[in-house]
Amino acid sequence: MADTVYILSGSNLGDREKNLELACEKLSALPGVEVIATSALYLSKAQDMKGENPDFMNQVIMLEFQYRPNELLNGLEQIETEMGRTDKGKLKPRIIDLDILLFGDEIIDTKELTIPHKQLLKRPFAMIPLLQITPDIEHPVKKRAIAEFLKKSDENKVEMYKDHVARNI
Ligand code: ADP
Ligand code: MG
Repeated sequence: MADTVYILSGSNLGDREKNLELACEKLSALPGVEVIATSALYLSKAQDMKGENPDFMNQVIMLEFQYRPNELLNGLEQIETEMGRTDKGKLKPRIIDLDILLFGDEIIDTKELTIPHKQLLKRPFAMIPLLQITPDIEHPVKKRAIAEFLKKSDENKVEMYKDHVARNI
């Protein structure tokens, strides 16, 4: 049985919109993946990064996945590499970063993978596009609606760039 997965796609280097588009295309071509919906594109200031960095463009992608979380992580890493991401680590600009926010109701905490994503509830640029697709989604650890973790001021930290939610079903 497939799980519903939410991916945060982010880029702050090169043609950011094209990078997000290509990443989504590559994602939909991974074995076991069916893309269900994509959020609007959002811009936010780079956080926790050294020096001057271009703004981030982010999008959340909802998909159905037939296999296990580590297999999806391998696929995401493969796409990042194919797209030319060489540097791992959060302090540098990147062409593409693909993170798993939620994987069904799974709770995982290993060296390679933390699900739900560790920073999800601290990141308006992840929560806002996620809630745009599924407004009532619950956090499997907190067992409360993710919308309850969004502060009023968070809306000012994220700017909508392209208002378009696409759904395949
Ligand atoms: P970050 O996404 O934190 O800015 P990276 O993309 O370089 O930094 O990821 C570093 C490592 O984070 C990856 O090699 C991966 O093993 C690990 N990781 C842990 N949890 C997740 C997750 N939920 N989604 C994606 N990667 C994760
Ligand atoms: Mg990452």
